[in-house]
Amino acid sequence: MADTVTKTITADILERDAQHHTGLWQPDVVFVRGEGVNLWDAEGKHYLDCMAGIAVASVGHANERLANAISEQARKLIVCPQNLGNDVRADLTDKLFQFVPKPLNRVFFASSGSEINEAALKWARAATGRSKFVAAKRGFSGRTMGSLSLTWEKKYREPFEPMRYETTFIRYNDVDELAEAITDETAAVFLEPVQGEGGIHPATQEFLEAARALTHERGALLIFDEVQSGAGRTGTFLASENYGIVPDMTTMAKGLGGGVPIGALLMTDEVAAAMPKGGHGTTFGGNPLAAAAALAVLEEFETRDLLNHVKDVGHHLRKGILELNHPLIRDVRGVGLMIGVELKKKVAPYVAALRDAGVLTINAGATVIRLVPPLIISKAEADEVVKRLKHALETA
Ligand code: PLP
Repeated sequence: MADTVTKTITADILERDAQHHTGLWQPDVVFVRGEGVNLWDAEGKHYLDCMAGIAVASVGHANERLANAISEQARKLIVCPQNLGNDVRADLTDKLFQFVPKPLNRVFFASSGSEINEAALKWARAATGRSKFVAAKRGFSGRTMGSLSLTWEKKYREPFEPMRYETTFIRYNDVDELAEAITDETAAVFLEPVQGEGGIHPATQEFLEAARALTHERGALLIFDEVQSGAGRTGTFLASENYGIVPDMTTMAKGLGGGVPIGALLMTDEVAAAMPKGGHGTTFGGNPLAAAAALAVLEEFETRDLLNHVKDVGHHLRKGILELNHPLIRDVRGVGLMIGVELKKKVAPYVAALRDAGVLTINAGATVIRLVPPLIISKAEADEVVKRLKHALETA
């Protein structure tokens, strides 16, 4: 009896959860509310959220326009698969292609990053008649059996081998290795323009230009995985726009629905036409609820000039961290609000100290602290993050 009285709300929630969850994770904190860049845990402690559900909460928590769009749509129509027409999905598609560069002109919707990458794999096979892929070391493209074939980390792959697709992994930004790997059996080269999970590494201009030229030359497709870097994260709608290079397909998910699950596969007319009728599909993809959410996110981009804001505040945040001139920091890199702070030590204790100091972040590999806050973060909030980062670096 005494135990139940003294038990914290957090302990109670986590204990109930642990009765039935799979044990994949052992969380020690419970979040119950958010607003903008702010989060509160079950004990009432406040955090600045620089994780955003891993680059998902693009327009901030409890965003008014997004919340209204979802609740209004829920009262109108939630279910309408892509084999039937829907007004909100048509509105979303119109708006989406105001942001997407030509010749990408067609879209297939799904509900997650891995699922949209699975669709890209199938389209690549349909369009080329080939089934081998080239991807990059440190790359991450998901954990379903097809997308896992493109994910580099051994710990994710090895327990589930053999992989579905034969993939050659090359060193990211190494043009020579890329040139050697693409053969006349390659269906597609699959690359993140800015590697996320692998440590926030932007591609070089030369590397992406070579990828475009070599794939053209050898009859393979170029696919950009922008599940993390897309939807405004880098200050352009797609990170590939920073390079002026247009692939045959781009996948996006995370930030597009502001937290409501949606993934989009963008492709050229030619690639779209290669899939046999009925050759792919999904029950939930592009349902009106998700479409209303993504439409609200894109409207926020327009009305708040968010892409320019991301460039501006991203630069401000990176500059603030660089100006700390901290001896523990090896490198600060990234584009827009996709920022990696590489330390000279393993980051786990520093990520924990930051959380104690009220800033939620996540690592990207062993030595990189990843900052992917909501795109609406203000300069004053960014300054506060820098201040608390300095404190965490000094106290961990
Ligand atoms: N591709 C990239 C670049 C990612 O960062 C991720 C997830 O972190 C995925 C694919 C997989 O997305 P999901 O977790 O929604 O399946």
